[in-house]
Amino acid sequence: MTVAMGAAGSHYIFCDGQLLVRAGGLEPAGEEALPELRKTREILDSFTVRPQGFLATGVFGAAEDPPPGFAWVRVRVLIGAESPWAGAACRALGMLNWRATHRFCGVCGGPMEEHPVEMAGKCAACGHVEYPAISPAVIVRVEKEGKILLGRHVQRIPDLYTCLAGYVEVGESAEECVRREVREEAGIEVSGVRYAGSQHWPYPNQLMLAFVAQWKSGDIRLQPEELSDAQWFDPSDLPNIPPEGSVAYRLIHGLI
Ligand SMILES: [Zn+2]
Repeated sequence: MTVAMGAAGSHYIFCDGQLLVRAGGLEPAGEEALPELRKTREILDSFTVRPQGFLATGVFGAAEDPPPGFAWVRVRVLIGAESPWAGAACRALGMLNWRATHRFCGVCGGPMEEHPVEMAGKCAACGHVEYPAISPAVIVRVEKEGKILLGRHVQRIPDLYTCLAGYVEVGESAEECVRREVREEAGIEVSGVRYAGSQHWPYPNQLMLAFVAQWKSGDIRLQPEELSDAQWFDPSDLPNIPPEGSVAYRLIHGLI
């Protein structure tokens, strides 16, 4: 994806994780959509994203009934289209998500205010400074004799197959996380774990670290709390997989 940031003064308006754009394209809606939105929706948060200087606003409710001439789109659509606004949209949404869950100080419980200089929160009572956090997660394309391992998750869209993935735990490396996740979820040992690329994923704050690994030993043995199915698939005959713009799509298709 492109990492170009939005121009100073541009405005990214989100509702339920979706960005308001001008209908028929992917250009962020900007100021002029706000009066119409304000008639029906409460503004949850609005601030300037530094140092780039663009604006981010979150509005309450479901991403439906956009103002005339505008549309709600998922951020992955911008990423998939390599839109020049994709990077800023990810940053704006990630910051909105972080601010929504860091309104109070983790040390003393006092109210957090915007840091005067840095893109951070500062406690009005004790002065504790909190920086925006990201959660590293791994996603892996496991290969065996030309086939790739894809699983169907219990908690997600039931007919969707995707790469195994999971959050990096405290104290482990990303490569150790890859080996642990594949072992836990599918009962398989892997070797040759190789970093392939990364992508920010603001749902709510993940840094997806993509890897490729080779099957070493073991037959598929599902972790029932995580996977309802997992199989080795031929890349030329894939099941229903995540759409363009997702890390999984690029990893499955060997694009990273
Ligand atoms: Zn405090």
